[in-house]
Amino acid sequence: MGAPGSGKGTQAQRLVKHYGIPHISTGDILRKHKDEGTPLGLRAKEIMAAGGYVDDQTMLDIIRDRLTQADTASGFILDGFPRTIAQAEGLQTLLAEIRKPLDAVVLLEVDNDQLVKRLSGRRVCELCGKVFNVHSAPPSVPPDCVQGRAEHQVVQRADDSEATVKERLRVYEEKTRRPVSGFYTYTGLVRTVDADGDIDAVTQRLFDTLRAGGGTAPAEKAAAPRKRAPQRRAKASKKASSRPAARRPVRKAAKKAAPKKRRKSAKARKATRKPVRKAARRAGASRARRKSKR
Ligand code: AMP
Repeated sequence: MGAPGSGKGTQAQRLVKHYGIPHISTGDILRKHKDEGTPLGLRAKEIMAAGGYVDDQTMLDIIRDRLTQADTASGFILDGFPRTIAQAEGLQTLLAEIRKPLDAVVLLEVDNDQLVKRLSGRRVCELCGKVFNVHSAPPSVPPDCVQGRAEHQVVQRADDSEATVKERLRVYEEKTRRPVSGFYTYTGLVRTVDADGDIDAVTQRLFDTLRAGGGTAPAEKAAAPRKRAPQRRAKASKKASSRPAARRPVRKAAKKAAPKKRRKSAKARKATRKPVRKAARRAGASRARRKSKR
């Protein structure tokens, strides 16, 4: 999650390279439909140009279709989805159904003025799709588009114009940032990353944050038994069986103490035997005396 221009796409590309899992960007999927002129693409074109959101059911259908493809078996990174509470709820149901729980929800945070600057300065090469920024990353010279065979043809995305940028930021704040991050707060999965400044520094912070924490949303955990569960149980039983071992020294010490105690009492018994015998002898003598008197 992150505002338009927060670097979601750039950072997601680095994550997929690192983890070797697919990058699922709903913005890219919609742009592909737009370029291919599909009915969805034609519909999305107008919504995107105005800075609005495509309806939730359409987005959920796109995600269901994508997440049930084989390449997502080892994981995936969602970029730009979910963007509304309805999408987050739909995703939760879908993930429980297909048993693919979330590990983390990354929230990229950038100052609003920075966002406007980034977005209005963003340029995309029409030929290779490479993203540039007139402020921080101008197109390379000499040209290296399509493996050096052509010059980059940089254009501004229709939704990066200043008026649309402001509307996109407003919609993001109202429908996504507060409600959707709030939706995930209870799961303990939200990792907030300061996405201001140098791209590499943001990547470093992102990896640090992901390494530092992880987990599975409780609701999803219940719906998706993990392979690791038996291992955990095995570990737990090992732990349990090691507990008596840990107590063993205590028992040994008790045993050691016990014989000492017995030896002592044996001695004591020996010592007390004499008076017993003396008493018996005395008793025997008095019996003899009584007999002789009789
Ligand atoms: P992005 O490339 O993620 O900034 O998305 C570009 C545009 O596509 C957004 O401004 C929306 O109009 C649309 N879009 C992308 N993802 C979604 C989504 N999950 N829900 C609704 N609209 C979306």
